[in-house]
Amino acid sequence: MTTKAVDLRSDTVTRPTAGMRQAMAAAPLGDDVFGDDPSVNALQEKIASALGFEAALFVPTGTQGNLCGVLSHCQRGDEYIVGQMAHCYRWEGGGAAVFGSVQPQPVAHQPDGSLALSDIEEAIKPDDPHFARTRLLALENTLGGKLLPVAYVQEATAFAKEKGLARHLDGARLFNAAVAQASTGSARTVLDEARRIAQCFDSVSVCFSKGLGAPVGSALCGSREFIARAKRVRKMAGGAMRQAGMLAAAASYALDHHIERLAQDHVLARRLAEGLAGIDGVLVEPPQTNMVFVDLTGAAREKSAGLITHLAGEGVLATGLYRLRFATHLDVDAAGIDRAIAAMRRYFDQA
Ligand SMILES: *Cc1c(COP(=O)(O)O)cnc(C)c1O
Repeated sequence: MTTKAVDLRSDTVTRPTAGMRQAMAAAPLGDDVFGDDPSVNALQEKIASALGFEAALFVPTGTQGNLCGVLSHCQRGDEYIVGQMAHCYRWEGGGAAVFGSVQPQPVAHQPDGSLALSDIEEAIKPDDPHFARTRLLALENTLGGKLLPVAYVQEATAFAKEKGLARHLDGARLFNAAVAQASTGSARTVLDEARRIAQCFDSVSVCFSKGLGAPVGSALCGSREFIARAKRVRKMAGGAMRQAGMLAAAASYALDHHIERLAQDHVLARRLAEGLAGIDGVLVEPPQTNMVFVDLTGAAREKSAGLITHLAGEGVLATGLYRLRFATHLDVDAAGIDRAIAAMRRYFDQA
């Protein structure tokens, strides 16, 4: 291959742009454990105010943001209600249980990614020594590329509040959700939409290192008092960094320059889905944001073993076996998408 491979494995694979690298190099720095890093402080203020919270905490990863969130809401012996496929239940090594003795109470998702209110209600335990104390509802938006309907988010979080539960959002891809929401004929800006979602929750974690294109970093937002507790958890988890302003500057640059452009990623995801439509045995889920999921059935499924290697040979990186995932991001363009479509069609002899 002479051209660089188009990497559709995840939206985490982006490299900092020239402008972002300049912002990193120019960032004023200090020791953030002393609270002295001006770039970290500025980022925390920027994301907190953008999403309508009193305070925010810069953390190295989204996993740590969720851990700090859950452990700041819950004590030992508490539990949180969470989706079966949620990152902060399934994909974080059981951290809340391991480090916090906080028990997850997973609930099955509806086809649109939501958790049914009746399932949430059923999972809430009475105040009785037999049970863990149900303390928190954790939602995720987007979830597997799906946008949770905003009316649902409002209803579910109001319901949780009424039941005395705190509400945490894993908003690793909150801005993808906001962009998708703003594109459905809304008169609101993308930032308004992000705030509208975020304000349903007591705490929100967002990733700068996914579609926003920063190399490292997430933020946890909440009340001042909540963030003070989260800071202690971050320290215990080893996430209190020193001259972290270089990373915060990248995140800050991403907030200024890379939010609106997420719409282009969504357009490219639709282009890919349309290009893959009609291949025998290849079922394409219509994408709502920047992820395309493809299920292989029948003869296509029988041929699946060599597919990822074939795609790599054609300069297209993806993941999966019977269910493939393609994620679009900053470093993907239309030519790359067309290469992926052509490589898929050639593999299934349907060029
Ligand atoms: C990526 C991701 C995270 C955090 O991931 P890190 O790799 O730890 O930064 C959390 N939640 C969701 C939904 C994610 O996609």
